[in-house]
Amino acid sequence: MADRTAPIENGCSPTGNERVIEHFDVLIIGAGLSGISAAYHLQKECPSKTFTILEARQSMGGTWDLFRYPGVRSDSDMYTLGYRFRPWRQVKAIADGPSILSYIRDTAREFGIDRKIRYGFQAKLASWSSALARWTVQATLPTGTTIGFTSSFLFLCSGYYDYTEGYMPGWPAMDQYRGRIVHPQQWPEDLEYKDKRIVVIGSGATAVTLVPALAQAAAHVTMLQRSPTYIVARPSEDALANWLRPRLGARLAWSLARWKNVLLGMYFYSLARRKPDETKKRILRLAQKELGPGYDARKHFSPRYNPWDQRLCLVPDADLFLAIRSGKVSIVTDEIETFTEKGIRLKSGDELEADLVVTATGLKLRLLGGMQVIVDGIPINPARALSYKGTMYSDIPNLASVFGYINASWTLKADLTAEYVCRLLNYMDARGYDTCTPHRRDPSLVEQPAIHFTSGYFQRGGDALPKQGSKEPWKLHQNYARDMLQLRFARIDDGVIEFTRLSETSCPAE
Ligand SMILES: Cc1cc2nc3c(=O)[nH]c(=O)nc-3n(C[C@H](O)[C@H](O)[C@H](O)COP(=O)(O)OP(=O)(O)OC[C@H]3O[C@@H](n4cnc5c(N)ncnc54)[C@H](O)[C@@H]3O)c2cc1C
Repeated sequence: MADRTAPIENGCSPTGNERVIEHFDVLIIGAGLSGISAAYHLQKECPSKTFTILEARQSMGGTWDLFRYPGVRSDSDMYTLGYRFRPWRQVKAIADGPSILSYIRDTAREFGIDRKIRYGFQAKLASWSSALARWTVQATLPTGTTIGFTSSFLFLCSGYYDYTEGYMPGWPAMDQYRGRIVHPQQWPEDLEYKDKRIVVIGSGATAVTLVPALAQAAAHVTMLQRSPTYIVARPSEDALANWLRPRLGARLAWSLARWKNVLLGMYFYSLARRKPDETKKRILRLAQKELGPGYDARKHFSPRYNPWDQRLCLVPDADLFLAIRSGKVSIVTDEIETFTEKGIRLKSGDELEADLVVTATGLKLRLLGGMQVIVDGIPINPARALSYKGTMYSDIPNLASVFGYINASWTLKADLTAEYVCRLLNYMDARGYDTCTPHRRDPSLVEQPAIHFTSGYFQRGGDALPKQGSKEPWKLHQNYARDMLQLRFARIDDGVIEFTRLSETSCPAE
């Protein structure tokens, strides 16, 4: 299996102008959390399939390798952010970035997946030929050389955002500011912030992670937000899991804790959607309790939107609230009028002086790993595609991608998607099929936005996302239990996905 070079039968090259060096049954794009899961499932459930992972960067881990800002951590629990097939054994359920990266690397090493990764291969173009039932993928090396691969199936595990830069809105007079401006996505290794006055712009997960971490060494940290976010404190350790572990063993304790967290997550999400006003009041009450009666929690912790219109921010062991109470952190809810030489002037007229400004202003959404995708010579616009079971796309053959949950851990969906792809491939092999393509044939199907979320990056880039449909199997559930039924148990041949056999393999006339 696996890393051997399979010769390309009869040397067909669908686009004709790339140097095709290898063929694989499956090409995985991306060696982050999802790519490692995809490889694990392929090895286990489709052991005869050849595959490789193309990774643009020089290391695996994706998000957990890229983000290096102080305090970087998960904001969902590791019992569900960890893989279903490899228990998370540490005491902390909310884990720091380096521990998550080690977990991903250890998983890859344990299952020999690290040997299947080709580093420095940025996939730029994927072109499908129905005549050959093959993808040709062009990948560029850091030297600029373009290498071609062919594969029967393309599995995109390339995440959802642009790795080259984060989102940075422009503000007036930024060039006049004499301090330093840093984006968390490109945190300089040598950045010295001890005893500095810092302003962190933003109120999302990154800002609430960074602020208490920076406050440990800084003179003072101000979190400057245009509008508040829902912030909920939770213990960083899972008491039940830690109690069960010595009694039942790591695997069973982890499994029970995982299901507890899946079910509680689903329960609280649906409660918040059904009773937004009650949930709002409860979250605010809890924040007020953490901050004490003298604090204006309503001003700084009452968002304009309903809970779960954007992701809730979790603060482990109430670290942000404790930092505010200690006086080292303050929150300012206001808008930036302009940068000045010394800091930032706000619309209220107040001025924040700062030695360092951190723009925790978010990500730039990027789909399909930034690749151009072509099907039989026609470029695909992802925004026109309909998502099938949240993993394939209408009229795009032999391609699946991972897009995790907005209201639960990403890995829950990544694991289910990989399981589904393996079932699909085995189903095709057993019947001699070469292609599988979901087709939208139901005229009563109504297109809907893929994600009803008001977060900045969905507002900015949401139009580029594939849509979802009003009915199964085109509906996106954001619900692990329903996806389990859909992806793990539902029949593969559902009448929507079309299977075909290639009668003969020959190059089209050239
Ligand atoms: C700071 C931060 C914290 C987060 N915390 C959580 C959390 O607590 N819980 C949660 O559920 N989610 C969280 N997320 C979402 C997070 O991205 C996912 O949990 C998960 O790490 C995504 O894994 P992935 O492998 O799908 O994508 P990524 O981690 O983004 O990895 C994608 C990989 O694909 C590679 N790649 C992309 N395009 C190409 C290409 N064209 N060619 C070759 N390689 C390519 C990239 O280099 C990268 O290595 C967080 C995200 C961020 C940014």
